Amino acid sequence: MEHTRYRGRFAPSPTGPLHFGSLVTAVATWLEARVANGEWLVRIEDLDPLREPPEATDQILHSLDRHGLHSDEPIRFQSRRHSAYETAIAALLNNGKAYRCSCSRKQLQAHDGRHPGQCRTRNAVPEDTAHAIRFALTDEDCQWQDLLLGPQRQIVRAELDDPVLQRKEGFYAYQLAVAVDDIDQGISHVVRGSDLLDMTAQQQQIFQALGANAPKWLHIPVILNNQGQKLSKQNHAPALDDSKPTTNLVHALTALGQHPPEHLFNTTVHDVLAWGRAHWQRTAIPLTSQQAHGITSSTQSHLDH
Ligand code: GLU
Repeated sequence: MEHTRYRGRFAPSPTGPLHFGSLVTAVATWLEARVANGEWLVRIEDLDPLREPPEATDQILHSLDRHGLHSDEPIRFQSRRHSAYETAIAALLNNGKAYRCSCSRKQLQAHDGRHPGQCRTRNAVPEDTAHAIRFALTDEDCQWQDLLLGPQRQIVRAELDDPVLQRKEGFYAYQLAVAVDDIDQGISHVVRGSDLLDMTAQQQQIFQALGANAPKWLHIPVILNNQGQKLSKQNHAPALDDSKPTTNLVHALTALGQHPPEHLFNTTVHDVLAWGRAHWQRTAIPLTSQQAHGITSSTQSHLDH
């Protein structure tokens, strides 16, 4: 049997500082990698400078450092990977897996997601017209195993769901960059929030089109605030308090369904991570999104503001 070395990653988009939900993801990725005796990498997905406050990347790296989470290899920045993305797009255009598309969102909506100018079927958009690059999906009833959620099924609809790989403004899109870098970095396992579950079937096709096998996936539930919304930048999730890394880590383990003993609150980040590693039970991770329990009421109200 072929043995693949475990290589995992935490890949935040630097749209703001880390919040409790992103720490939970970081801890899950780290523990899965450590328990498998694998490598754990940090990759900053800084693809869209318009949505990224310039200080966010440093804040994220500082927070990870304070929480004892150190990348096993030099940190990768997607902003420095443009030539790799360009090469991948050229290859996909070349073998008919991608196409130039000049349709606006409005036009697509008015045509039920079909491309009025037949850009996909006829390769009708000249290079010098403003255009996005889209991936040409194949119709598929995609079935795959999530390492936590079990059997998954997604219907992929060619043309209607074709994801953008490069936007009209020239920015490379997440769907392209994530596959190119997961392949290039030899990522064997992807652990991430279940808000990205719907992307998975499309990503499998992109991996294949780039000549690679898809990694294994494990989607963890997203953390909600008191209003039942996902903790996110858009919902004004507060930044992690980097002065309380031990407490934050204990809460993150609780959110992942583990049962860290109370005394860990009085220890160090190193001790909490070591406990997590020694006692990690993937099967204890809750399956559905949940409010951040195990959090003191003062932290909880902090999370709501
Ligand atoms: N950069 C993505 C995010 O912050 C995560 C990408 C992934 O894990 O596939 O939501």
